This record gives sequence, C-alpha cells and structure tokens, in this order.
Amino acid sequence: MMLKSFNIPRAHNFIGGVWVAADAEIEVIDPSTNRSIFSIARGSAADIDAAVKAAQTSLDGEWGAMSALERGRILIKVGIAVLRYVEDLAKIEAMDVGKPLSQARSDAVALARYMEFYGGAADKITGETIPYLNGYTVYTIREPHGVTGHIVPWNYPMQIVGRSVGAALAMGNACVLKPAEDACLTALAFAAIAQEAGLPAGALNVVTGLGSEAGAALSSHSDIQHISFTGSVSTGQMIQASAAKNVIPVTLELGGKSPQLVFDDADLERALPILVNAGIQNAGQTCSASSRILVQKGVYDIVCTRMSEAYSQLNVGAAMDDLSVGPLISARQKQIVSDFINKGSDLIIAAQGSIVSEADGFFVRPTLFKDVPPDHLLARDEIFGPVQVIIPFGTEAEAVKIANSTDYGLVASIWTKDGGRQMRLAKMLRSGQVFINNYGAGGGVELPFGGVGKSGHGREKGFEALYGFSSLKTVAAWHG
Ligand code: NAP
Ligand code: MG
Repeated sequence: MMLKSFNIPRAHNFIGGVWVAADAEIEVIDPSTNRSIFSIARGSAADIDAAVKAAQTSLDGEWGAMSALERGRILIKVGIAVLRYVEDLAKIEAMDVGKPLSQARSDAVALARYMEFYGGAADKITGETIPYLNGYTVYTIREPHGVTGHIVPWNYPMQIVGRSVGAALAMGNACVLKPAEDACLTALAFAAIAQEAGLPAGALNVVTGLGSEAGAALSSHSDIQHISFTGSVSTGQMIQASAAKNVIPVTLELGGKSPQLVFDDADLERALPILVNAGIQNAGQTCSASSRILVQKGVYDIVCTRMSEAYSQLNVGAAMDDLSVGPLISARQKQIVSDFINKGSDLIIAAQGSIVSEADGFFVRPTLFKDVPPDHLLARDEIFGPVQVIIPFGTEAEAVKIANSTDYGLVASIWTKDGGRQMRLAKMLRSGQVFINNYGAGGGVELPFGGVGKSGHGREKGFEALYGFSSLKTVAAWHG
C-alpha cells in the first residue's frame, strides 16, 4: 500500500506530532473496486480530548511563540514539500475516494497552493488605527482564536483541508482536524508531510473516525474556540447548535444547487464544455457543482443537443484509469444518486454516459435531464452525483426568478455578451460567488468562497478567510 511512502501506520491518529494507536479501527474501501485497502483509527472522544490538549500545548509553547513571519515561512515550506509528493498524494486519493487520477493530482497541487498562499499572507494581516477622542490612540490587533476544530467532507479532502487548516495556521491557531471517515488518507499523509517540513508538534492534529463519535466530540468540545465545518445541511445544523452551546464562532460551508444562466447571445463554443464539466467533475460530488442549466429559448435546442452529445461520450470507470468520471464515494452515495435518477422517471432523459469498467465499483451513469420544470424535485434538491437538469426560460426576469428559487446560494454563472445584463444579474443573483462567462467549481484559492441561505455562512479561501480565523482586539490608550 502506498501509504508506506509516508510511514503511516494502520489505525493511528496523529496527535501532538506522534502516531497514537487507537482502540478501534475502520476499514478503508477503494470505491473503484469495493475492496478493503487499509484501516484507519476509529477515534474516540478521549482521542479528540488528547488532540485538543496537544493543540493547546503547542499554543502555549513553540507554535504560539512564533512570529507571523516564521509561521508563514513554515507554511510555504509545507507547500513546497506537498509539491514533491503530488504523485503519491494523487494515487492515495484516487484509491481512497475514487477520484480520477488527474483530478486527484490537481487537488494535491491546490493543497500546496493553499499553503503557499496562506504562508505568504501570514505576515500581511494588519490592524488599523481609529480616530477617537483627543488624548487617545486607538488601534486594532488580529489575534488567533486558539484551538480550532475542522470537520471536512470526503469530496475534496485535500482542497478543503488546505483551505481550512492553511488559513487557521497562518493566523496562529492550532488545529484539530476530523476528516470524513471515507476520506482520511491524504489528511494523515499531509500531517506527516507538514511535520517533516517543520510544522511544530501539536499545531496540526488529525483524529480520524465517525462523524457521530469523533466529529461530535470535536464540535462539542468545550476547549475549542472556533469550528469550521464543510458538509451537509443537517450535520451543519448540529454543528451550529454545538457551537451555540459553547458560544464560539462557526463557519459553515454546506450544499448547493448552483445554476448557470445561458442567454441567447452566449458564446456557446466557450460555454458548452464548461457547462458539462461543472456538473460531472468529481462525479458531481461537488458542493459547487452546477446541477441546473437554465437556457434561453433561442438557443435551447442547440444547447440540449450539444450537451447530450457530450454526455453520450462520457465514460465512467476506475479512478486509476483516469476517465472523465470515476465511481461515487460509497455504496450509500450510489444508492442515493440512483434513487434521485429514478425520481426523474416522469422527466425526459436527454442522454446518459456509459460505465466501461468491469470492476465492482460504485459507478453511476452520468444523466442529463431536459425540459425540467423548475419546481421539480430534481431541480431543487442537491443530488451530489453526475446529474444535471436543463430548464428553459424566456426572459431575463424569469431566469433570475428560477435561479433564486432554491434554498441554496453558493455559485452561479451568467453566460451573455451583454455587459449591462452581466452587471445587473451579478447583483440580483442570490449567491456567494457569481461567475461571468465562466464557471469555477471548487477552483480559485484566492477567491473568497461561501454561501447564502442553506449554503451556509462565513467565507473560506482568499484573504477573507483569515478574518474568520481571527478575533479582533481594540486597544484604546489614553496618553493625554
Ligand atoms: P456530512 O455527512 O455532513 O459529513 C461532513 C463531515 O461531518 C464528515 O467529516 C462527517 O464525518 C462529519 N459528521 C457527520 N456527522 C457528524 C456529527 N454528528 N457531528 C460532527 N461531525 C459529523 O456530509 P458529506 O455527506 O460527507 O458531504 C456531502 C455534503 O457536503 C454535501 O451536502 C455537500 O454539498 C457538502 N459540501 C459542501 C462544501 C462547501 O464548501 N460548501 C464542500 C464540500 C461538500 P463522517 O463522514 O466520518 O461521518
Ligand atoms: Mg475510501
């Protein structure tokens, strides 16, 4: 097993800079084959408690004593080290979560990029001076929260660990990370790489295990000072309730039903591959997947035809075969997505891709529905699989109304050459990000990202995330 390249032992957590054996373990399944490939720790509340204590110890010691410049240098070194291991990380990720190899590779590169970006930003966070009464000097300081908890999902393990832990460490917090039980291997490998590159013991601790055990123990721990969560709405609600009990800030990145609005004057040659890729990338298991394609009547038929052609050429297979679509993460996710496709039995299937693998993986045929009414379940609920719906519209006002009609608001895009419409709609769309003649599912280390409505609150990525991972102190000095 490739984890040898990082000397990661089976069924161990990474706490205080050392591998700590767990009392119980969980099998790691390769979604391309449905075979067991490794085992990880089934972390307990006691393991979480040990990790929180180790994080606090690092804040009271070497890590907490470092200047912003020193922290930044270490993170940049971690980023450079990650770049050396891109191939190993990509292979581990492909086997652990079924992500086609080249998609896994770009996640590993993004992990490195997050470290470089936040390493560079660490010493550029400044406060302000505030004009106040005569005889005073008032200024603000950005301080770390302390121990931060990070609960991440299985869909983009490296990217989400990178953005969350990278920003928190840059601000001088110490992290306890609980990856999703289905996607722990690259988080463990990353902790080993970071330590080798110079991150002090205890600054990053990884406890693997079940959400209901290790996850719940972390989010309700009374000694964490901030929790950042990426995952489903229902778990997010529980996390926010735990944070409320401990009165700590919380960042929630939840689901989406992100639309792309294609107008009659759109540059279709540019748009078409992006429309499709935004839905099938990572087999559609992307919070910012574009699962709704809204198309104006004048180009409706041509967009349906061209997207259908693209779907019929999609091949689904093992992650290592590096096709455009891999398996879904688990048998459970395959069931959920298949049920959704069945719930569209009253709709028109425009086209489907093909499963080309002989193996027993969690494969689902990418499915494109057309002429979908905007209030249909498939046009409202997050499916989290390779499924897109095409919805026709007439006027601009109608398009905005449909786009804003779900509970979510994560990403939207506008395809039009009309500059006025671009600006107007960018304001009117209820969404944390808006792309114009473009779509960036998951991309953009530099770009603040997060939702409105049930897509969550708080912003990750970019410089903005550093504010969320810090607390503002106001100092008012009277000197006469
Ligand atoms: P999930 O079930 O909510 O799990 C997310 C994380 O929470 C996992 O680490 C999970 O651990 C943990 N967890 C589960 N129950 C918990 C509990 N009671 N207390 C504390 N932690 C708990 O979501 P998922 O199915 O893995 O991921 C899919 C969802 O994530 C989709 O809705 C998607 O839209 C959303 N997502 C959003 C973004 C974004 O940036 N907005 C990015 C990616 C995904 P276990 O898995 O080990 O149970
Ligand atoms: Mg797995």
